[in-house]
Amino acid sequence: MSRKIQIYNTLTRQKEVFNPITENHVGMYVCGPTVYGDPHLGHARPGITFDVVFRYLKHNDYKVRYIRNITDAGHLENDADEGEDKIAKKARLEQLEPMEIVQFYTISYHKAMNDLNCLPPSIEPRATGHIIEQIEMVEQILKNGFAYKVNGSVYLDVNKYNEKYPYGTLSGRNIEDTLEGTRTLDGQSEKKSPVDFAIWKKASPEHIMRWSSPWGEGFPGWHMECSAMSEKYLGKTFDIHGGGMDLVFPHHEAEIAQSNACNDCNPVNYWMHNNMITVDGKKMGKSLGNFINLEEFFNGTHEKLERAYTPMTIRFFILQAHYRSTVDFSNEALQAAEKGFNKLMNALETLQTLSATDTSTYDVKKLEENCYMAMDDDFNTPILIAHLFDGVRIINSVKDGKESLNLTDLEKLKSIFNIFVTDILGLISAKESRGNDLTSEVMELVLQLRGNAKKSKDFGTADLIRDELNKAGIQIKDSREGTSWEVK
Ligand code: ZN
Repeated sequence: MSRKIQIYNTLTRQKEVFNPITENHVGMYVCGPTVYGDPHLGHARPGITFDVVFRYLKHNDYKVRYIRNITDAGHLENDADEGEDKIAKKARLEQLEPMEIVQFYTISYHKAMNDLNCLPPSIEPRATGHIIEQIEMVEQILKNGFAYKVNGSVYLDVNKYNEKYPYGTLSGRNIEDTLEGTRTLDGQSEKKSPVDFAIWKKASPEHIMRWSSPWGEGFPGWHMECSAMSEKYLGKTFDIHGGGMDLVFPHHEAEIAQSNACNDCNPVNYWMHNNMITVDGKKMGKSLGNFINLEEFFNGTHEKLERAYTPMTIRFFILQAHYRSTVDFSNEALQAAEKGFNKLMNALETLQTLSATDTSTYDVKKLEENCYMAMDDDFNTPILIAHLFDGVRIINSVKDGKESLNLTDLEKLKSIFNIFVTDILGLISAKESRGNDLTSEVMELVLQLRGNAKKSKDFGTADLIRDELNKAGIQIKDSREGTSWEVK
């Protein structure tokens, strides 16, 4: 391969030429969701970002082993060492088994990723399926002298660790910075230092997700699962580790410390982090009322949304920004993205109908070069999209007879669009995306007809529509805000 892919490495804070450990093979680990709630924008962004990295590396003939985990235990509230397990809490509130919560939200996460046309990872390991590996790692860290036991819990001794390995290399936070940001617990803590973190926690009597260990019944610290599972499937050092920027500290910093403390080697060569998403200029938050889950986008059922937006509009919108920039969601921005996406898809359709002429008035080879250059430059999808729109302009001009392409160039242009739009950006037309758009439009019509029937007091017809839709697996719900629908 003559071209080089440059990746911005969070660890070194610069772009580096990608050079995998094993020629033509890539090991990539991305932190997946903690499955205790509906998938939302915060899941869509890393899902799409690393899907494009996965697709582009494969396009460049790398064999990629892409691991994305499912966190189904050990993630405590506020990402801290204290508090209730997020999944156990949801299970308690809903009066369900924790694994019922895990199963339910894993299915909805998979559905959302599928709707967004994200390819499934090669392996999707779960924390609860790797308790033995995590215990083994904790034992090794203890043996190496970088952890200590207190009352059935095991903590990583960050000060001890820092004597041998520099702590804070990824986040740029050293121990003093970390201490400043840590709540002092007035001596209540059993930790030697507030910067230490749990790698194994003793389970309190009411903690239901618990396993036997050499230190009594407990559960692994949240950071431990990614260290143990990445080592199991990708080795002690692997190529790419990805995730959202909010995971840099403490999660990924802790992963680095655990791997060094256990194996005396750095776990990852290239750390990649996608930036965050805001809604109407504000951070997403349940209390701010701007926490919109993906299903609400697809159905247009959240009060902040003027209407539904298809998964492909969301995907295109996210790819219009570079993954290291922030993205702000608003109705205006989404509607603009939808227009852009439709324009691109229409051009793709038009392209199939164009006829070649003897001469070309456009440099297709240059367009291809530009597209590769954009992707080689740290997966710069907005620049790629800008180049593709240059192609869109040509497609429309050729159609109007203002420009011309010979047969070779026309075939080349078709191949560029197939490769970059479909294979790499993963954008597919509404008709291909399992009829999502079409269903929305038809449902809008059906609900309008039912609304009309109700207005003219034709309740028989209104009920018939509801019952027949129900039989077809579509549930409709009437509320003060109007009528919404969902596939059961
Ligand atoms: Zn992780």
